[in-house]
Order: sequence, then structure tokens, then C-alpha cells
Amino acid sequence: MSELSDDELDRYARHIVLPQFGGTGQKALKATKVALIGAGGIGAGALPSLVGAGVGQITIVDDDEVDLSNLQRQPLYTTDDVGKSKAELAKAHAEARNPHLAIAIEKRRVSHENVKKIVDSHDLVIDGTDNFMTRLAVNDACVALGIPLIAAAAAQFQGQLMLSKGQPCYRCFVGDAFDADDCDTCAELGVLGALTGTMGHFAALMAIRHLADIGPDSAGKLHLFDGLKASWREITIAPDPACKACGT
Ligand SMILES: [Zn+2]
Repeated sequence: MSELSDDELDRYARHIVLPQFGGTGQKALKATKVALIGAGGIGAGALPSLVGAGVGQITIVDDDEVDLSNLQRQPLYTTDDVGKSKAELAKAHAEARNPHLAIAIEKRRVSHENVKKIVDSHDLVIDGTDNFMTRLAVNDACVALGIPLIAAAAAQFQGQLMLSKGQPCYRCFVGDAFDADDCDTCAELGVLGALTGTMGHFAALMAIRHLADIGPDSAGKLHLFDGLKASWREITIAPDPACKACGT
């Protein structure tokens, strides 16, 4: 595992002093390659935490440009950025924050056809896309390739997040009914801006817990946040033996 330079030891000092984390956890993050699917509400919340934490290699996947209506919930972007590539802006932000990382971008829309190639060779995928068709395609690819997946979403006042390490998977929870549903959830339903940030940062926290192997394993649990009640719930997802992705 790669050693940490003097600059990195200073940069990550508040991590390294944590007894459960230490140099071992920091080196584990440095050695990791994460794919972040979507640089929108969830992704723009997760990325700064992943970058600050020192996740060594990050691939940012987004084919979108900044729209004025994104600025309500996507703090990576400014008013001057409207019309510019989110992936390129997110990469520039990441490189300015932390020069020790290798940041790659994929300016492609994720589909059933290209998703396996995009996520292949990553240690973890964080999906923050906002339609079920893409989310299920990402899930199926991660299950097929044996890559752990954090699927995070937010709509209206409700946030949800699930870490899957194969079985049960995100499809065990959602089922097959949404495979053709490519509607933009945020545009149709609305979403509280601070909620996407909450779920994005939570996705980064769950990624760091998993990558540094700290805290109890929460794979297979669905975390639900109600932004109106300001309360969290946790549901254990049962594996679906008939699941198209992970079933036997
Ligand atoms: Zn499944």
C-alpha cells in the first residue's frame, strides 16, 4: 500500500488522529478507485467530501451541462458556469482542492450498453443519477462485475441510500417495473436543495466507511431520510431469489 507524503500527513491529520481510521484508513482511501455516476445534486454533494478525504482515483461520469435550475442544489457550480460541462467543472474543482488525486471524466450518458465498460476496474461505484432506468443499469453492471455500489437518491423531501455488495442488490429493493422509466425525477417532483446535499455527503460518508473498513457493515440496509420530519429510518432489504441481477 502506498505511503503518505509529508504534505498528505498534514492534509489528512484530522483523519489520521482518529483511532478507528489512522494511517491505515488513509492509505486505504489513497489506494482506491471510485466511480461517481452523476455530478448533479447527489454527486455535487459527495465529490467535495471524497476529494477532501483523499480517495486516490475518482472517475466523474456526467454528460450534462450546468443549468440555472441546478444551482439551487449543486454547490460545485456558480452562475458563471451555466452552459458549461459539469464533468469538466467537477474535475477542475477536485484538482484544485487536492493535487494528490487522479481525476478522470467520462462525458457520456450511462446506458445498459456502456455501463459495464465505464464502471469496470473501479473498487466502488456511487450512483447519484436521478432516473430508475440508469440506476438499475448501474446496479446490474455492479452486481455482474462484483463491484460494491452505493445508490443514493433524493426527491421532494425524501432521501434514500443503499450500499450493496452483491446480494441483496438495489434491484431486489426496486424490482423490474422501472426499467423503462427515464424521467427526470427532480424536474417532475421537485426536491429540496439541502436534501440532495445531505444525501450526497451521506453517500461520501458511507463510501469512506466502506473503503477504510470502519464501523459495522451496513450492506443490504436501506437508509431513509425524511427531510420534513428530520428523521432517519433503516430497513433491511431481503434478497429476492428471483432478482434479475443477483438472483440464483
Ligand atoms: Zn438483487
